[in-house]
Amino acid sequence: MILIAMTSLMARQATRARDPVPPGVVAWQGSGRPTAHDGASTIDRMLRITNPATGDLVGELESTSLEGIGLMVHRARQAQRSWAAIPLEERARLVASAGPAMKERSGAIGELITREMGKPIAEAKGEANYAASGLEDACAEIVAALRPQTLEDERTVTTMLYAPLGVAVCITPWNFPVLMCSDTVVPALLAGNTVILKPSELSTLCALEWAKCLMAVLPPDVLQVAIGDEVQGKALVAAPIDLIAFTGSRSAGRHIMQAAAGGLKRLILELGGKDPLVVLPDADVDAAAAFAARNSFRNAGQVCVSTERIYVHDSIAPAFTKAVIDRAQQLVVGDGMQAGTQIGPMVNARQKEHVLAQVSLAKATGATVECGGDGGGNFVKPVVLTGVTHEMPIMQEETFGPVACIMTYREIDEAVRLANDSPYGLGGAVFGRDEERAREVAERLHIGMVGVNQGCGGASGSPWVGARQSGYGHHSGTSGHRQFAQVRVISRPKPKPASAV
Ligand code: NAD
Repeated sequence: MILIAMTSLMARQATRARDPVPPGVVAWQGSGRPTAHDGASTIDRMLRITNPATGDLVGELESTSLEGIGLMVHRARQAQRSWAAIPLEERARLVASAGPAMKERSGAIGELITREMGKPIAEAKGEANYAASGLEDACAEIVAALRPQTLEDERTVTTMLYAPLGVAVCITPWNFPVLMCSDTVVPALLAGNTVILKPSELSTLCALEWAKCLMAVLPPDVLQVAIGDEVQGKALVAAPIDLIAFTGSRSAGRHIMQAAAGGLKRLILELGGKDPLVVLPDADVDAAAAFAARNSFRNAGQVCVSTERIYVHDSIAPAFTKAVIDRAQQLVVGDGMQAGTQIGPMVNARQKEHVLAQVSLAKATGATVECGGDGGGNFVKPVVLTGVTHEMPIMQEETFGPVACIMTYREIDEAVRLANDSPYGLGGAVFGRDEERAREVAERLHIGMVGVNQGCGGASGSPWVGARQSGYGHHSGTSGHRQFAQVRVISRPKPKPASAV
């Protein structure tokens, strides 16, 4: 650890000498030594991260060379046996001992989140704090899931062991750049795997700060961080590793599945969504509209379980639509570092272009833009669209932007058919005062997680799971934690009772 810290310090000093970095800008050297770049990467040797709200440089890091990736995998393999030899409870104690440092640094990590990907500072600090304060409970839950279990029938006693898989690679996105690391890295470590984390190239600094808290308490090479974009991601997927826990887009997930097939590597894929909200005729219009606005616009719509399609019964559509538009127009859009900002920028210009292109195409083919649109820079003011149809790409492809698309229906069967007309199946919601009826509608949706009169996240201990092309495998909850381990079944004859001998 001291060596890592020294190397990092020297690297930081060397970087400063080469290329002076403005005050407040973080410079860091990737941990994928050696530093000589092999030239195969499509990215610059230095990964430059800019603030999407201001365009300012936030920091730069040396990306991990492909040779460095190979060395990391080798080191992870070497370290895995002794890490797995540590009892489960002790591994959990070590991981959980990073909690106080994470909590102490949550303010600084939160600031990095905002400066790297734009979300309002209170939400960013909340994310960092949640990951820190929830660590101990998460570890306890994972330990309970991974403890050996015993089954027996008349003849056989079976012990089920949850054994390590080996070397795990966790590849994460930028929209919840710390939580998405925590959700996969922590169970992978507790299961006795060594882990290589490859955070998003757009939010590497905050993920690295979070990971440093863990690296400080873990034996060397049990957790390493690879720096870079999809080039490093692809190299890790192709390397001789045992598990890929990926959170990101459907297209990258598809590529990873193909690339992993040759080695039949274990996969956990948490992918994109196109979540529907079904508003039933008896719904509380204000509550449904408040939810629709919050869940379409929070994090500038850059949430995997954002509401991206709204089906509202035509009897209440005018009141509902007006309430969503009113809320959209009241939201304060701006730099996430400024007090009062509720909606930050899109993560980058490419994402903004993608969102506005979908809106323009919808408008050109008959939809009405009720409010919102281009906010200058990387900003998009919350958009409400009416008159959309299912032929429009905005109702088929993930938008990942602050857009509420409202469609009306007459029969509940029609709403269910439309909600199910998607290759995605991550989250969704149904609003209606008759909860039993709303629950019946929820059960007819081909979706991993559906909320009735609330968002889709389950009670503590629930899995986080996408159906259809939104996921393959899952994390969290007892069943999710066990996907980071190999279940092994050891059986022996049941001892005969003394009276039968
Ligand atoms: P992305 O797929 O572009 O990138 C995600 C990560 O994968 C990054 O670290 C990237 O460098 C890496 N990567 C990209 N292509 C790769 C490849 N072919 N091989 C290996 N690594 C590769 O996604 P993003 O833009 O960072 O994140 C947004 C997406 O993530 C959205 O689709 C969103 O819905 C999804 N997401 C899903 C969940 C979930 O729990 N289901 C949670 C958060 C985000």
